[in-house]
Amino acid sequence: MRLFAATIATESNTFSPMPTSLAAYKECVFLRPGEHPEEAPLMCTAPLWVARRRAAADGFTLIEGSCFAASPAGTTNRADYECMRDEILGQLRAALPVDGVLLGLHGAMVAHGYDDVEGDVVERVRDLVGPKCAIGVELDLHCHLTVKRVKGADVIVLYKEFPHTDVVERAEDLLALVLKTLRGQVKPVMSLYDCRQIGSYPTTLPLMRAFVDRVKAMEGKNGILSISIDHCFPYGDVPELGGRILVVADGDKARGDALATEIGQEFISMRGKTAPQYHEVDEGITAALAVDGQPVVLADPADNAGGGAPSDNTTVLRRLIERRVQNAALGPIWDPVAVRLCFDAGLGATFPLRLGGKIGPASGLPIDAEGAVTGLKRDCWQSFGPTQVPLGDCAAVRLGGVEVVLITNRNQALGLELFSNLGIDPRAKKLLVVKSTNHFMAAYGPIAKQVLYIDADGPLCRDYRKIPYQKIQRPIWPLDEVTTPRLIV
Ligand SMILES: [Zn+2]
Repeated sequence: MRLFAATIATESNTFSPMPTSLAAYKECVFLRPGEHPEEAPLMCTAPLWVARRRAAADGFTLIEGSCFAASPAGTTNRADYECMRDEILGQLRAALPVDGVLLGLHGAMVAHGYDDVEGDVVERVRDLVGPKCAIGVELDLHCHLTVKRVKGADVIVLYKEFPHTDVVERAEDLLALVLKTLRGQVKPVMSLYDCRQIGSYPTTLPLMRAFVDRVKAMEGKNGILSISIDHCFPYGDVPELGGRILVVADGDKARGDALATEIGQEFISMRGKTAPQYHEVDEGITAALAVDGQPVVLADPADNAGGGAPSDNTTVLRRLIERRVQNAALGPIWDPVAVRLCFDAGLGATFPLRLGGKIGPASGLPIDAEGAVTGLKRDCWQSFGPTQVPLGDCAAVRLGGVEVVLITNRNQALGLELFSNLGIDPRAKKLLVVKSTNHFMAAYGPIAKQVLYIDADGPLCRDYRKIPYQKIQRPIWPLDEVTTPRLIV
């Protein structure tokens, strides 16, 4: 038995002013066959990594293709996408015949001229391998689960957890289903229900937690092989944006259809009840300062680099300075030029610094202030679970009562080292402002006296009605009150 595996992935915020080119993939994941490290999977490479570890025991030969992934930002350059795609297709062609293909994709990648990159990849893979080959795909739950890719693949499995702590487990599910398919033990058929809604669904909150646990308990019995809840990615303006439910049944399409519809209708009934409360900026600061105890963590998800934002919006920082808030820290602000200036000024120096507000209109205006350099570190990092995430050269500057962490490699707030590596003790601060949507919770949740969320004016607006969509199919909630959810595959 011969399986081929590869990855091409990013999360494309089509409203982002930062285009994504080959350079962004080279900075993140750019691995040729055999180059993938042994220790752990990288962004979206879990199917290949899991298959490599299981090949001998499960009696198949793995042919490794390239793995390309870029951190979330704007639309990918067309020629660069085609170049990476065609490299993988060329490797697959050379590997033929194969019995199965495992694709580690993200699911919300957009390239110029390709609103549905993953659908394009699946379609071209199918053209090469023919109808009998089993194509398995793992996707992030923040994806556009299009009809094209569902019709083109045999099995699609999405992450179930947000924060995404189950990437490896879902890749194992995918491989197991592909192997069972090839051994003739199951016959996967997919049903897709379109809920016609945009939303945010952290699985750390009770309603969504219970929903995911209930869905997981349905898998592996009554002829149901797998169930995926597609949360959607609200910041990719493509026709098929929206929450969907995917059921993979064993041969019985009618059973899958019925279950996808039932779960889809339950997902619809949760509209508006799954996201945390978002405060206006000043209201959020006031509420945070009123909390007895510290630190209070104030999240600014609208400027989350993990969703493709520049992470250089200055609105919250400006209000903290203007309100003369004391004992606060904020990070990260992505501003490599300001980092360079801080290194040039030197530790302990106070100098007139301009920071943030550079990349686009949603960055706000830069802040000009006398900045005292309180920390400098080359090749800095923060942790995210077992992974060390590189931040490049970093600087900490004090502006009034606020210490700000400036970074060189654009990233969201994940680990406490974002602050502590620059000499800022996050536990000793009254107020910690983090640019992140929910991934920060793993490290900051446990130390926080309280966590509050604000909806500032960064590009990842939490009120989806304010996003200037052009391509999205209507009607869709909450842009429209009346929608027509239905089974579409
Ligand atoms: Zn995601």
